[in-house]
Order: sequence, then C-alpha cells, then structure tokens
Amino acid sequence: MLRVDLQKDEIPKYWYNIVSDLPDLPPPIHPATKEPLGPKDFYPLFPEECVNQEFSKEKRIAIPEELREFYLRIGRPTPLYRAKRLEERLGTPARIYYKREDVSPTGSHKLNTALAQAFYAAKEGLEYLTTETGAGQWGSALSYATMMMGIRALVFMVRISYLQKPYRKLVMKLYGAEVVPSPSDRTEVGRRYLERDPEHPGSLGIAISEAIEAAMRDERAKYSLGSVLNHVLLHQTIIGLEAKKQLESIGEKPDVLIGCVGGGSNFAGFTFPFVEEVLSGKEDYEVIAVEPSTVPSLTEGEYRYDFGDTAGVTPLLMMYTLGHDFIPPPIHAGGLRYHGAAPTVSLLKHRGVIRSVKYTQEEVFEAGRLFARTEGLIPAPETNHAIKAAIDEAMKAKKVGESKVIALNFSGHGLLDLRGYEDVLRL
Ligand SMILES: *Cc1c(COP(=O)(O)O)cnc(C)c1O
Repeated sequence: MLRVDLQKDEIPKYWYNIVSDLPDLPPPIHPATKEPLGPKDFYPLFPEECVNQEFSKEKRIAIPEELREFYLRIGRPTPLYRAKRLEERLGTPARIYYKREDVSPTGSHKLNTALAQAFYAAKEGLEYLTTETGAGQWGSALSYATMMMGIRALVFMVRISYLQKPYRKLVMKLYGAEVVPSPSDRTEVGRRYLERDPEHPGSLGIAISEAIEAAMRDERAKYSLGSVLNHVLLHQTIIGLEAKKQLESIGEKPDVLIGCVGGGSNFAGFTFPFVEEVLSGKEDYEVIAVEPSTVPSLTEGEYRYDFGDTAGVTPLLMMYTLGHDFIPPPIHAGGLRYHGAAPTVSLLKHRGVIRSVKYTQEEVFEAGRLFARTEGLIPAPETNHAIKAAIDEAMKAKKVGESKVIALNFSGHGLLDLRGYEDVLRL
C-alpha cells in the first residue's frame, strides 16, 4: 500500500497525555528557591487551559469539536506514505513509512499545537499571543492560528533571521501578524541589548525574554511556546494517534519509530502513542531520536536541571542539556538548534526507553537529496535528520536480511529552506 488515508471523521477525539504514565517525571522548579512550581505559577503567562493540560494527570484529554474542524481544514488526518521508491533504491528488504506533516498550510507539524493554543486563548478572551521565532516556522504557524481564531500575534523574530530570511517573515505578515526584529525597543530587555549594540543580531534566548516581558506587561495578552512543554507535546500526539491507526489498518506493526529532535515536539507527537505500549510492557518498539552532531543535547548533554531559555528567565526544567549558555552553530536545521530537550523526552532517554543518534549536516542533506530523487518530496533540513536515521536502519536490515518495518515522522517540507541545500550540497 503506497498511501494510507483515514476518513475525515477519524481525526482523533483525544490527545494522549504521557505524563499520566510517567509518575517519576521531575517537576519544573523555581530557580532561586528550588521549590516545585504548580499551575498558579504559570497562569499569568499561558492561557489557563494550556496550564491545566501542562499539569494534568489524565491519560486522555478531549480535543474540542470546534478544534477538530480546524484540524480538518489544515489537512488532517494527514496521509501515511510508504517510501517504496526509496526502499528500491536502497535495495533493502525493510519497509519504510513516513507520516506527512508537511501537507499543512505552513508546511510543518507546528500548526497542531498553534491551533490548540490560539483556540484556548481566544476562548479565554485574550486579544493576542506573543511569541518568539528563529527561522520563522513557529512564527508562521502561530500567525496562521491566531488569524483563524480571530485574535492577533506579536512575533519577536531574531533580527539576523528577520534580515536574512525574508520569506517566513512575509508569510507571518500576510496572515496579519505583527513581526518585530529582536532585540527591539518594545521591551526593557530589548532596549538593554540595543543600547549595547544598535545592530545586535539577536538570539532565540533574547527573543523569548522579550516575548515573555511583552505578555506579562499587558493583561490582554499571553505567551505561547512552540515546543518543549508538556501541553505542546500533548497537542502533537494527534500525529502518532493517526499513524498508529493507519499502520493497524494495513496490518503493519512498526519495529522502529524515528523522529528528529529540536525541543522534541514532533518526535514526541509521533512516537508517544507507541511509547505508551512500551511503558505498559505490551510492545517493544525501538524508538530513535535524531539530532544534529553540532547540537547533541540528548546524545551528549547532561541530565540535570537547567533554564529553558538562554537569558535565564524561565523556570528550571529537568532535561538533557548542553547548558543554557551553549551557543549552537548556525546550521541550516534552525528548528534543531536548542540547548535542551523536553523533560518527558529526556526522562524516556534517561530510562533507556528511547535512544538517540546524531548526524552531520552533510550526511543529512545527502539523505534529503536521495529522498527528493526517489520520493519526490523536498524535506525540511530538520526532517532530513529523521530520514538519514531511517536510511541507516534500512541498510542495517539489508545487511542481515531482515524485513523490518521502519516509520518516521516527515515533520515538514523544505521549500523555504532551499538555501541550505544550495550551501551544503553546493548546487
Ligand atoms: C520546528 C521544527 C522541528 C523541530 O522542533 P521539535 O519541537 O523538536 O519538533 C522539526 N522539524 C520541522 C519541520 C520544524 O519546523
């Protein structure tokens, strides 16, 4: 079967909350007092329903009916494809499947949570959401989502990206968002950096601090984050819930599940509904998180409490980290340049439930080229990491003559990332 589809009414009705199955998950703590933080500490910052979900111990959390309609609009349920032409090129007996999260209007999985967060924000009477964005994938998703929910977005975009990567900035503006290069004169944090250097290139850490300050100062606004937190990963589990049903519908059982990891949201979204069965002892899937060799948080980081941002304004999170002051090199997979990884993903790695691998930029872009020339899709640089790992697993299966089933999350397309292909592959 080349392509597996679900019916429109098969969009999941619940998200899977892995926190319910991880009683040993360390809580976020206050940087000074080291006391565990609870919902009341987060209500001023995020929409209330998001905070409730962040701390929920329920196994299944209902997806509102109205939100399911927005999911329908962005192309859910998304198709699952078999990479038949890639398999043939590799000469592998393995069967490779990929879940198409690139089919959404902004080209990645990020709308799954952007829509949910904007939905709750609008319901709670907020007028706008603030956020940060690096290369612009998250900013575009939140701009689309706020537009759809009839509220606004204020996006602090890292100045160097604002200047060098105009296309996603234009996407955000087309959807009606206000996009401000960061550091900006809108916030105290921003003004401090600008005083030092009026041409400051900015960083994701500074942009986060600005977005948080802007939200805290205006009661009509709250802040929105695109990865790492429990509620964000929760919203993404719609991917894996669909994929599981799709594989079941054709009588396939995956041996290996693969996703790339920046903060961990698409990896978690795709794999957690399968990990549920590993945690309950029902199945024994091999689950692989893929990172860039230059930002190997899970593979080479330390498991300890660290700040979620660079500037040190967030609570401390227990996670694999390279240190919050780690400055990732300017690789093309901008979405994977994060010093840490989601606490839930980190705990699973710590317990040995999942494992991680890392690849160089050259290796992953070569994998992307092979994918483009077989399957015909141009993957996002981030997605190339998952593809490279799937190819490696397929080649291992070939060596031992095993007909393994490998499933990966195709997190996004690379049509706005062609510069990366040009630079790395010297096209
Ligand atoms: C943002 C992004 C990622 C990385 O973020 P996660 O939260 O780790 O999923 C991966 N792929 C694409 C296409 C992205 O836009």
